Amino acid sequence: MSFTAKAPYQMFINGIWTDADSKEVFEVKNPATTEVVGTVPMGSDTDTTKALNAAQNAFKSWSRLPARKRGEYLEKVKDLLLENLQELAVMITLESGKPLSEAKGEVISAAENFAWYAAEARRVYGEVIPSDDAAKRIVVIRQAVGVAALITPWNFPLNILGRKVATALAAGCTIVAKPAEQTPITGILLWRLLEQAGLPPGVANLVTGDPVQIGKELLDNPIAKVIGFTGSTAVGKLLMQGASKHVKRLALELGGHAPFIVFEDADLDLAAKAVVRNKFRNTGQMCGCANRVYVHELVYDAFIEKLTALVQKLQVGNGLEDSTEVGPLVDEQGLIKVKQHVDDALSKGATALVGGCALEGSPGFFYQPTILVNVHKEMDIMREETFGPVVPVTTFTSEEEVLNQANDTQYGLYAYFFTKDADRSIRVSEALEYGMVGINDSLITAIQAPAGGFKESGLGREGGHWGMDEYLEVKYVTHTMTSQGN
Ligand code: NAP
Repeated sequence: MSFTAKAPYQMFINGIWTDADSKEVFEVKNPATTEVVGTVPMGSDTDTTKALNAAQNAFKSWSRLPARKRGEYLEKVKDLLLENLQELAVMITLESGKPLSEAKGEVISAAENFAWYAAEARRVYGEVIPSDDAAKRIVVIRQAVGVAALITPWNFPLNILGRKVATALAAGCTIVAKPAEQTPITGILLWRLLEQAGLPPGVANLVTGDPVQIGKELLDNPIAKVIGFTGSTAVGKLLMQGASKHVKRLALELGGHAPFIVFEDADLDLAAKAVVRNKFRNTGQMCGCANRVYVHELVYDAFIEKLTALVQKLQVGNGLEDSTEVGPLVDEQGLIKVKQHVDDALSKGATALVGGCALEGSPGFFYQPTILVNVHKEMDIMREETFGPVVPVTTFTSEEEVLNQANDTQYGLYAYFFTKDADRSIRVSEALEYGMVGINDSLITAIQAPAGGFKESGLGREGGHWGMDEYLEVKYVTHTMTSQGN
């Protein structure tokens, strides 16, 4: 087996493994132990320029390759991901801290994305539209945008990167990708598989390192035609500003602040389990995590009792241990943010029913699974994404009131509600200003469905056939017949 999780970890430019021009490296640390997992090149603008040039040179032949052939490469990557599931999952856990079972699920999702887009490559359909002129034909085709720059976060280091890679390559784009500084080795391992799948040199390039220098070059250099980004709204806004210089396309999957509403007719056992499944997955570090839970006052006490019983049982620990259900935060900044949100809430009158502080006695970035009650909208935790294992719970009295509170945010990514009333399901799902809504369900991401946000949660969609649109241009071609007797 040529795939191996062993160092050296390098960037991949024009089909060659390479160090940074500067020869500098940075350390990647395991958030459960703070031990060094490996060192990775500290790439910069000059490395990025080389990667962009390589992608540009490879674009013509890759984009003209029959879609079926591009799909065959992606199918091969899918097979390789599954063959190397265990090694990949261990690296995801070492870098991000998530439990190994979740990491394995992430590898499977990444493989399914490659399989989906292997097939989607062949479904880039055009249209023939009737003209008003008998001698004219109106044809609309869709073509790859060009070189795609892909910038990804650490919370799903394989799946978010992999989905972007699969989509862009399927569309016929060549790529330059930059993974997050906390989880670059997972990206490097994916690139080892891309190499093993036999992708031609220059088609898929990977740079690691300084986000500001790399990001600036991706924006300033006219070669990159589209920026596919998943990350914070703050960085998304910076990219929007930078993209204006060359009017680059943007596909932005940004932050969220998901409401989770429990109506008085909800199945409370189902709803309590759904909060736990959603909120503590990846230690609460998902853009789709329920950030504020609204429970109808008539069922509040019963719901809190069920939720508390479940949260008290959660096992916190190193993600490599079988018993672990909740791992560490990804880094010290993540832990500090969670502490600040909880301390702010407690200082403004909240009560911690479970948890409420960091886990003592470990070098890692662990925070106790926490339930906060007596929360209100003046608290940071009710206004901003916490990205941690903390559930703030409050009450409401009417549908109108809770919808106003749920929509009172600049974010619009995920929302969830639990009810058995079919009419309410329609009313509430249509009234929520969110790109993705789960009714009686809290883990709703699906490969075939469009993922993306309203408002400041993003631009465009990933997933399903919608994801392809971000990497395709629409071209209208009209043909006038010139011969007589047409
Ligand atoms: P982040 O700080 O915005 O970083 C995301 C990526 O952007 C990283 O690769 C980062 O590089 C890079 N970056 C940082 N500054 C940059 C700059 N000036 N120019 C170009 N690139 C730059 O986000 P994160 O903390 O990794 O991820 C958490 C956020 O992602 C949350 O807000 C979460 O909601 C959001 N998210 C959204 C979705 C979705 O589908 N909408 C999915 C997952 C996560 P470095 O790592 O090197 O700094």
